[in-house]
Amino acid sequence: MLNIILGGAPGSGKGTLSDIIVKNYGLQHLSTGDVLRAEIASGSKLGQEINDIISLGNLIPDAQMIQLLKNYIASLPADCKGVIFDGFPRTVDQAHALTQMLDEHHMEAYMLDLWAEEDVIIERLLNRGKISGRADDNLETIKKRLRIYNETTRPISDYYLRKHKYFLINSNINPECTWSQMEVILKQLAQ
Ligand code: ATP
Ligand code: MG
Repeated sequence: MLNIILGGAPGSGKGTLSDIIVKNYGLQHLSTGDVLRAEIASGSKLGQEINDIISLGNLIPDAQMIQLLKNYIASLPADCKGVIFDGFPRTVDQAHALTQMLDEHHMEAYMLDLWAEEDVIIERLLNRGKISGRADDNLETIKKRLRIYNETTRPISDYYLRKHKYFLINSNINPECTWSQMEVILKQLAQ
């Protein structure tokens, strides 16, 4: 199985590149952001609580996210070729929990970390906000999400680097350029 953790700040291109990987490698795509937004769209009480957290740019508590991941892994089809984890882990505790879950299933995962300049990221997210209608794609919330990313999520890059399961990818130019770097790495990992 080819399991990929797509890392990188908000707006670094995780969603866009996930779609390209799915097309080329037929992996399952778990976007925790999409799962949470679907819960919000359902209008449930849980969805309202999630919306209150996301629209402020904060993270959902680890325990809730780890349970979501457990349910997802348990529901994977037997013939699954691998998973793209897009938006998980976002904290070091989530990374430890993922390692434990993968170990239990005799699986492993590599982190492909997308890097882009902060100015580029802010511009992308502001442009996305014009069409996505996402409550968290406005300048104030974007800045907060970037701060939380730098403080809380960035340390997981070191975690995977120390495990020798880490690749840094330049995602500053455009999706084609990002994909061409990624393709070389995925070809090696898929062997
Ligand atoms: P990108 O633009 O690269 O897709 P993003 O940060 O804009 O990244 P999502 O991954 O869609 O967006 O996540 C949106 C929000 O959902 C996060 O800001 C956070 O509040 C919540 N969220 C998603 N995944 C997690 C997680 N693993 N742990 C905690 N909160 C999460
Ligand atoms: Mg996304």
